[in-house]
Amino acid sequence: MILAILQVRVSSTRLPAKVLKPIFGKPMFLHQYERIKRSKLINKIVIATSDDMSDNPIEELCIKNSIDYYRGNLHDVLDRFYQTAIKYKPQHIVRLTGDCPLMDPNVIDTVIETHLNGKYDYTSNTLEPTYPDGLDVEIFTYQCLIEAYKMASLPSHREHVTPYIYDKNNNYKLKNVSNIENLNYLRWTVDEELDFQLVNKIFEELYFENPEFSYRDILKLIVRIPELKTVNAHFNRNEGFGISRKNDLIDEQQPSKKITQNRYIKSQNLLNRSRKSIPLGAQTFSKSITHFPEGVSPHFIEYGNGSRVWDIDGNEYIDFSSSLAAITLGYNDIDVNNAVKNQLEKGSIFSLSHPIEVEVAEKLIEMVPCAEMVRFGKSGSDATAGAIRLARAYTGRDHVAICGYHGWQDWYIGATSRNRGIPKSTAELTHFFQFNNIESLEKIFKNHQNNVAAVILEPMNTEFPQNNFLQLVQELSKKNGTVLIFDEMITGFRFSNGGAQEYFGVTPDLATFGKGIANGFPLSAVAGKAEIMKLMEEVFFSFTFGGETLSLAASLATLKKLQHEPIIKQMRKQGQKLMEQTSQILNEYGMKDLVRLSGDPVWSFIHFNDTHSYSQWEIKTLFLQEVFKRGVLTTGTHNISYSHTDEDLSIIKNVYQEVFLLLKKAINEGNLYEYLETKPIEPLFKLR
Ligand code: PMP
Repeated sequence: MILAILQVRVSSTRLPAKVLKPIFGKPMFLHQYERIKRSKLINKIVIATSDDMSDNPIEELCIKNSIDYYRGNLHDVLDRFYQTAIKYKPQHIVRLTGDCPLMDPNVIDTVIETHLNGKYDYTSNTLEPTYPDGLDVEIFTYQCLIEAYKMASLPSHREHVTPYIYDKNNNYKLKNVSNIENLNYLRWTVDEELDFQLVNKIFEELYFENPEFSYRDILKLIVRIPELKTVNAHFNRNEGFGISRKNDLIDEQQPSKKITQNRYIKSQNLLNRSRKSIPLGAQTFSKSITHFPEGVSPHFIEYGNGSRVWDIDGNEYIDFSSSLAAITLGYNDIDVNNAVKNQLEKGSIFSLSHPIEVEVAEKLIEMVPCAEMVRFGKSGSDATAGAIRLARAYTGRDHVAICGYHGWQDWYIGATSRNRGIPKSTAELTHFFQFNNIESLEKIFKNHQNNVAAVILEPMNTEFPQNNFLQLVQELSKKNGTVLIFDEMITGFRFSNGGAQEYFGVTPDLATFGKGIANGFPLSAVAGKAEIMKLMEEVFFSFTFGGETLSLAASLATLKKLQHEPIIKQMRKQGQKLMEQTSQILNEYGMKDLVRLSGDPVWSFIHFNDTHSYSQWEIKTLFLQEVFKRGVLTTGTHNISYSHTDEDLSIIKNVYQEVFLLLKKAINEGNLYEYLETKPIEPLFKLR
């Protein structure tokens, strides 16, 4: 199949909106389209225009005239060609530009014939031009286009689509088609007003008599009216290409920078737009520019399937962030989807409770050791805030001991450096202790004797509990009459079907769940001993969407799947392989001092250490820039899901091999800032 792609845009700089300029009442590019249509060898023609608003009229005209079209990247025309081509998967692509209204179908067919007969990779009549400027035809194989799309980095290569292919270093089989007579001094392309006047005049002279006039008819006309030869002869051929080559030179010192920026054009545009209506341009710090360095990261995901997600620029990623650990089965899980669809047909919320609330509560009681009763919330912070309020009500005490992150609400976040807007009196009731440091907890009990309502901690975060830490915390809490809460937001339904409490064999008084409880649907839960949970009948933990059924249906499907398939076992197996292969790379490169791995296989972490020249944040930013570029989405954690395959692991292995080597080189050579294409990210919580 031979696909012709005619690139057309309204926002041309030298002669704005030239493609829409009417000749005999019809926009210029439609004349060109009709002339191309008479080619005998082209099987399909698609107009590739941009998604910039200025190109809306092109779309409207295509629709009106039943012409196939594609809208894509304004500046990265190579991307536009690639996206168009992968839709049709042709063997060969003919490239035509919308500024050639005198295009001749016979010239097109001559170039195509030469290309096919000689089995060339790229054929054109422009390598050594002997045809009039404006009869430019290029044809190349699908394979060449794919390679150019992946490899081309210079601005001129992205804007002009083919230079990467005909660049002599790439060893493609090239062919130039020459005219018998050298007519390259004639200029029939339209870049300037004078060009347009010339073309208009040619149409006036020839179109009426024969709408299918050929380029030979134009040559005859020129003999008759010689000034048609000279009217625009003072303009240079290929001026646009010259201008963009100059930009290459400016950019040549950092060619990779352009590749990176080209990957995220739509993301960046939407981020700019988003920041006008949404503070920070995101709903969650961990999804925002605080974690995804601007200019070198995707900012918007369009869809996901299994372990993969696609950003709005069409880049594909293996996602190891798994929506901040909310995805445990994989994106678009069929069982969860079906459960939600079934429930959707019945309704998402009602004026009274729904039976599914009881079903999910009973399922959690069946699975989680501490769960004798359950209440639901929407976000994890609902659950932790509810559990803390419950513990305060149960004990009649005010102070709480915390360890790690437990949500956005006042009771917790007041104790961190991001505490703006929180009354001091609230913040003063919350005290940090350190994981695996029982003395730090003892100190809190000592300082606030008989006034510690709750101890809340994740049973595990980056480090395994050591020296019976969890048992000691439990004993200490019991001794002090304090409620012990395990925050199992991430560990729940990731470490085992009964959470980390089951995995480590320590049963808390209360536990909070969220994230993976419903494979990405907004549901959280407080579960625990009936004696304490009963108090929820008094304590105010009550909100409109508390019994929302779609998320409960998703949860029931997720929990049942956990019981019926070896999900956690598989996650642990894949996570273990990932940790081992990553550790092997770091060993091989002798990078153990610089990069450290930690955590459980189902939820593992990469830590960067400061060097004498660079901070961990600078190193991490370079890491993020490079892994995103290679199609891996992680912010330094591996939140494994059931859908991560061996193929995913082998891809990330290659990516890490490249990226860690690059980090090592940049650090050793002391030129990390030269590799860094953006400002380093900063810690969300500053040390005080
Ligand atoms: N606790 C822990 C351990 C968490 O990881 C989180 C979320 N990062 C929360 C509580 C708060 O959950 P949410 O963001 O859903 O409110």
